[in-house]
Formats: sequence, C-alpha cells, structure tokens
Amino acid sequence: MNTVVIITTGGTIAMKYDPVVDGLVPAVSGEDLIKAVPPLKDVAEVEVVEYSNVPSGYMTPQMMFEIAHMADEFCLRQEVAGVVVTHGTDTIEETAYMLGLVCKTNKPVCICGAMRGATDMGYDGPANILAAVKVAASPEACGKGALLVMDDEIHAATEVTKTHSTSCATFASPGWGPIGHVYEDMVVFRRQPMNLQKLQPEALTEDVYLLKSYAGMDEFLFKCLADKPIKGLVVEALGCGNVPLPVKAGIEYVAAKGIPVVLATRVYSGRVAPVYSYEGSANSMKASKIILAGELSGQKARLKLMLALSLTNDNKELQKIFQP
Ligand code: ASP
Repeated sequence: MNTVVIITTGGTIAMKYDPVVDGLVPAVSGEDLIKAVPPLKDVAEVEVVEYSNVPSGYMTPQMMFEIAHMADEFCLRQEVAGVVVTHGTDTIEETAYMLGLVCKTNKPVCICGAMRGATDMGYDGPANILAAVKVAASPEACGKGALLVMDDEIHAATEVTKTHSTSCATFASPGWGPIGHVYEDMVVFRRQPMNLQKLQPEALTEDVYLLKSYAGMDEFLFKCLADKPIKGLVVEALGCGNVPLPVKAGIEYVAAKGIPVVLATRVYSGRVAPVYSYEGSANSMKASKIILAGELSGQKARLKLMLALSLTNDNKELQKIFQP
C-alpha cells in the first residue's frame, strides 16, 4: 500500500465550538484529525505532518510557498503516492493555486478543508479528507496539477473558487466545472486541466498589492501605493477589463513609476478581453503596458505576479507569463 502524506495547516476542519467565546476556534491536532477517519487505513498508509493550526486568513504567500516545497520534498520519496494539505476554506484556492504553480512533482498534490467544524452537525472534514486521500493515492491524478477536493468533487487549482460563505457545496469552477468525482469505490476523471503552468523562483517577491475597482472609485489608493512604492499591482477591473476614468489615471500613475500593473476582472467567470477602445477600457491603457490576467481572479493573479516578479522584471516576459 502506498503512502499519502497529510500536511495539516488549520481551518474549520481543525476547529471546535468553544462555549466561552461562543464560536469555532482551532482545537484539533493533525493526529486527531486523521483518527476521525478510520476508513483511511483501506486507502493508504497515512503520515501526518502538522505545519500549523491557524484559520486560513492567517496564511501568507510565504507559508504557501513553503508548503509547496514541503510537498515536493515528500513526493521525492518513492513510496509516497501523493500529498494532501488540509486548510481553511477562506484562502484555500490561493494555496491551491500556489501549489500548482510552484510544485515540481508530477504526483498528486491535493488540498481539502471543511465548511463545518468538528463539533457541528454534519461535520464534513472526515469525508473530505477521505476523498482527498483517495485522489492523492490515485495514479490517474498524476500530472493534473494541484487539485482541490471537497464535497466529493475534484477541481483544478487554476479554476476553482469559493462561491458560498457557508454551504458545504461551496467550491465550483465557474464556466468549467469539476475535472472529476470521488465515489465510494473509485476516483473518476473526465478531463485534463490544460494550462498547467510552472513558476519556480528561489524566493517570493513581497509588496504586490490588489485593488478592486467599483463605480465611483477615485485615484487615492493608487497614489498611496505608487508612492509607497510597491513592486507590483493587480487591479480587479469591471467586466472584461474596463475601469472608471479616475482608476485609469491611477493605473497610469502607478505604471509611470515603472511598477507592473496586471488587470484581472472582478467578474467570477470569463476573461479580461480587449473588446472596447473607449477611455477606461483595457485597450485604452495599452500605453501603460498593462498585463491582462486572462481568466485569473485578482487573488490568484496577485500570487502569480509575486512569483513572476521573482523571475523577471521585463514587461514582455511578464506579458508572456500571463498569457499561457
Ligand atoms: N474561516 C475558516 C478558515 O478559512 C473557514 C474554513 O476553514 O472553512 O480558516
């Protein structure tokens, strides 16, 4: 039987209700998490490594980067079939995306969490861990990049996002759908994620910011950031890449300081596309050498820019990295 290494990081999956503070708080160790899933013994030899026990809002890109390297280290061992990371669901899609870009291994690197705590009715942690270990132990999961496994669905890290604040069926890949499903007796894949890009710098560039645009937004935040100064900026534009005129001016102000600006969309499905040419459209900001993020959400585009800036500062190279 192959080994699956489970790296625990915290999240609701490792939380219990505390009557003193009247809410869920971190309380379940990595070992206890696994003890709650007896059927694991029929799927794989499981090794547990506790990386942290924090809500996922405490996770940083640096921690995500470290976990990716840990996963790679474990996968070098021949008997290890794959790795599962347990994680809070609030930023799980960011860690999933980082794992997909950074991990060198071809073996499955899966991530899962839970929407209900260990003391809640219908705690979904054990079922999600069991499903994720089944995927990590499955040879068909090799070469599919990082995979998010929740609610018996398998999602590509590049595509998945949280779509509901409390539902157990919160994870979806809008416009694409899951790439596979986990059943009692088997794991079934029906498509291969296509754009499995790798970015593997030695370190991570910090000081990359994300702003979301909205009707009536002004230049204020852009000026604050450009004068800080920062290393890179991602702007979540409206629609397919349009912004209010003061935001265009803000982007131009940032870009004029030599800070790369990536344009993503705040819409949760579809690409940034150069459809319009009116003032404020993506086309109208070409002179600022803005980089279009394709289908990436702002939070994923920010992680990509942090990795990309550690490899190059050249605008043409950055443009290529964002157009796989
Ligand atoms: N707030 C929790 C976290 O992200 C939510 C969860 O795990 O579902 O840590």
